[in-house]
Amino acid sequence: KLENAILKAELGNASWKLLHTMMAKFPDKPSADDSTALKSYIHLFARLYPCGDCAQHFQKVLEKYPPQVASRSTAAAWACHVHNVVNKRLKKKEFDCSKIGDFYDCGCAEDEADAKK
Ligand code: FAD
Repeated sequence: KLENAILKAELGNASWKLLHTMMAKFPDKPSADDSTALKSYIHLFARLYPCGDCAQHFQKVLEKYPPQVASRSTAAAWACHVHNVVNKRLKKKEFDCSKIGDFYDCGCAEDEADAKK
């Protein structure tokens, strides 16, 4: 059904956006607790992702490419890579991961400035 395909695509779009934006905001120098939290989040995200087929496939992708949570740049590069694995499977265009740097912006840089006031 076309409507289902549209809903599935919208869910995917929103989910990738959240995931990549989280990576862009992950600390450059995370604490051990930050890294553990991100790793758990990714595994739970894969397990609880509402599209069952997608979740099953993505859990296999995680087994092959375990989350890299040592820093913002490794986490962002990892997420870009696994998204490309999904893109490839769905016959979508590959994203150039060297361009990931400023692509995802939460629009919340001023949060930190406000917090200091
Ligand atoms: P999306 O893949 O949603 O990407 C959104 C935007 O992100 C793109 O327009 C581009 O600007 C950017 N982008 C693209 N590639 C990358 C990258 N590598 N790194 C960073 N940014 C990038 N759909 C299925 O039909 N079957 C599945 O098995 C399936 N599994 C999924 C598993 C997960 C974990 C998720 C989150 C989604 C899954 N989806 C699946 C949905 C699918 O990946 C797409 O989200 C959906 O098809 C919509 O595609 P899109 O063309 O809008 O771009």
